[in-house]
Amino acid sequence: MTVNARSGPPRDRPTKPAPNPPPSWRRYLIPIGLVATLLLLFLPGMVSKSPTAVDYGTLTQQVTQKDVDTLTLAADGAITGKYRSTFQKGEAFTSQYPTGAGGVDQAFLTQVTNPAVVPNFKATGASSSFLGTLLSLLPLLLFIGYFVYIGRASRRGMGALGGLGGITGVGKSKAQLIDTDRPKTTFADVAGYEGVKRDISEVVDFLRHPDKYAAAGAVGPKGVLMAGPPGTGKTLLARAVAGEANVPFLSVTGSSFVEMFVGVGASRVRDLFVQARKLAPSIIFIDEIDAIGQRRGTGIGGNDEREQTLNQLLAEMDGFDPSTDVVIIAATNRPETLDAALLRPGRFDRQVAVPLPTQGERSAILAVHARDKHIGADVDFAVTARSTPGFSGADLANLLNEAAIVAVRDGRAELKSTDLSQARDRILLGQRQGSNFLLDREKRNVAVHESGHALVAALSPVADPVDKVTILPSGMALGVTEQLPLDERHLYTMEEMTTSLAVRLGGRAAELVVFGEGSTGASSDLSSATELATRMVREFGLSDALGPVGYSNDSPQYLGGQQLSERVYSEATQRVVDTEVSRLLREAETSAVDLLTVYRDALDSLSQELLEKETVDGDVVRAIAHRAMAAKS
Ligand code: ADP
Ligand code: ZN
Repeated sequence: MTVNARSGPPRDRPTKPAPNPPPSWRRYLIPIGLVATLLLLFLPGMVSKSPTAVDYGTLTQQVTQKDVDTLTLAADGAITGKYRSTFQKGEAFTSQYPTGAGGVDQAFLTQVTNPAVVPNFKATGASSSFLGTLLSLLPLLLFIGYFVYIGRASRRGMGALGGLGGITGVGKSKAQLIDTDRPKTTFADVAGYEGVKRDISEVVDFLRHPDKYAAAGAVGPKGVLMAGPPGTGKTLLARAVAGEANVPFLSVTGSSFVEMFVGVGASRVRDLFVQARKLAPSIIFIDEIDAIGQRRGTGIGGNDEREQTLNQLLAEMDGFDPSTDVVIIAATNRPETLDAALLRPGRFDRQVAVPLPTQGERSAILAVHARDKHIGADVDFAVTARSTPGFSGADLANLLNEAAIVAVRDGRAELKSTDLSQARDRILLGQRQGSNFLLDREKRNVAVHESGHALVAALSPVADPVDKVTILPSGMALGVTEQLPLDERHLYTMEEMTTSLAVRLGGRAAELVVFGEGSTGASSDLSSATELATRMVREFGLSDALGPVGYSNDSPQYLGGQQLSERVYSEATQRVVDTEVSRLLREAETSAVDLLTVYRDALDSLSQELLEKETVDGDVVRAIAHRAMAAKS
C-alpha cells in the first residue's frame, strides 16, 4: 500500500511561529492576573462561613458518591475541601485523614486522585488547616509560585498554557507525555522490511551528516509518515532510525495532545519542538498522528482543540529553519483520514507503507524474537510462518511468548514445535472449551459438516491443502477446517475461486447429503461464500452476464475495515449482480453436493474418524480422499 499525497487547493496557511519565542514574562501576566482575581473573588466567600467538620468515614462516602468537588490533603493528614454545588450548596468542609495506625488508605487515595470522582485534588506538604493564614499569604504565595513556575518553564521549555496547567493541577507532568531516550535499537532488530529500511536510511544519513547536506545546499528530509496496520513495527522502525543515527528520540502519542482544553494541545506541540531543537540532531516520533491530523472541518461541529493543535504542528514544520536537523516521523493506521495539508512538500512528504509481513518476513521476525529463547531442534519457523498469514510482528512476538508459557507450564525450558502450534491455535481460535458440552447428535452434525468442507477441499485439485479438521468448539465456531495456502497468493483463477466457493459451501452440502436438510451451523459459511461470490461478480469481472466490469472499492482493506458501501452503479446492474451471485452460489453448492454424493463413503469414514479423534490431520483427510478416488477410477 502506498499513501498518495493528496493534491488540492492549499488551505489557509497557519501563522508562522515566532522563530525564537522570547521568554517575555508579560504574556504570563494575563493568566496569572486572572487566576489571582478569581481566587481573591471566590476564596473569601468560601471561608467566610466556617467549614463543616466531617468525620473521615462520612467523607469517604461523600467522595464515593461524587459529592466532593475540591479536596486538599496535607502531609499531616488535614483535609480541606469543597462540596460540589449540587451537594450541600457547595460549602467547605474539613476532615482528618487517619495517619499512623492502619497505614495508607489506598482505596481513598485512588478515589480522590481520580479526576472523574474528585475534579480538583491537591496534595500539599504543609497543613492547610489554617486557611486564613494561607489566604493572607496568598499574594506572596502566588508571586513565589509564579517565579518558580517561570523558572521551571524556561528550564523545561514549557509554554504558557502548558505551564499553567502544571500550576493549577490541570494536566499531567509534561515529562510523562514526551518520552525522551536514546534507543539502542538498530535495523538488525527489525526483521524483514528491507524496502522500508532502504527508504528511511536516508533519514539516518541526514541525521549523521547534516553538514554534508548543508554543503550541497540540499534540504534534508523533514517528515516521514509510516502507514500500516497496528503491530507491524512502525514504532520499532522509528526507534531503529534513532538508534542507527545515535540521536535522541522524542516520542509522543497524537491522542495525548487532544484530551485537554483548547489551546493546551497547541502549546504542547510548541514545547515538543522547542525540546527537539534543543536536543538536535533528534527525532520526533508522533504515534497515532491521525488523532490530531484528521482532515479539518469535517465531523459534526468540528473540533477546535484538534484544529488548533494541527495548525500548530503545521506551523512548526513550516517554521523550521531548513538547517535544523530535527526529523519528524509519524505513524498511522488510517492514512486516508489525514488532512491533505500534512502531506504537502516540506511536511510529511515522504510516505512509507509498512504492510503486514510476508511469509518470509514472518519467519525472520520469529527468528529475531527467538534470540532470547531456547528453541528445540524440531521447531521450523518456516512452517509456523506458513500457518500464520495475517499475523503482525506484534502477533508473532506474542505467539512466541505464549509458546514459552506453554513450555514452562509443561516444565520445560525448551520450546517444541507443538508449543508453537498450540499457542497459535490459542491466539487464532480463542481458548478451547472442550467438546463435552455438545450433545452427541450435535457432535455428529458438526463432524459431518466439517468433513464436508475438508473433503471438498481434498477432492479438488486446485484447493488449498487441508491442514487439519477439528470438531472441538473454539470461540464462536463449533468446528473448524483449516486450510493452509502453500504460498502467499496474490492471484486467483476463476477455477480456484469457484472451488473456494464449493469448499465454503461443502459443510452445508454434506448436511444435505447425509441428513437431507441443512442446519443453522452453516450460516457463517453462507455469508462468507456470498461475500466471495459478490466480489467475483462486482470486482473481478468474472461473471459473463455482467461482463468485464470492476466496481472495485479502492479503500485499502486493513484500514480499520472501512468500506465504501455506496453503490456506484444502477438499480438494473444491482439486479444483475444479485442474480449472478445467487447463480454462482447455487452452482457451487450443486457441485459440492454432487461430489459428496459420489464420495459418500469417504464422507462417512471421515465423519466417523472425526467423532472418534475430534481432531484429524490434513494428511489423514488426503489419504481418505485419495483412497476413495482410486477406488472410483
Ligand atoms: P506499531 O508501532 O506498528 O503498532 P510496534 O513497533 O509497536 O508496532 O511493534 C510492536 C512489537 O512487535 C515490536 O516491539 C516488536 O517486538 C514486534 N515487531 C513488529 N514488527 C517487527 C519486525 N519487523 N521485526 C521484529 N519485531 C517486530
Ligand atoms: Zn462450516
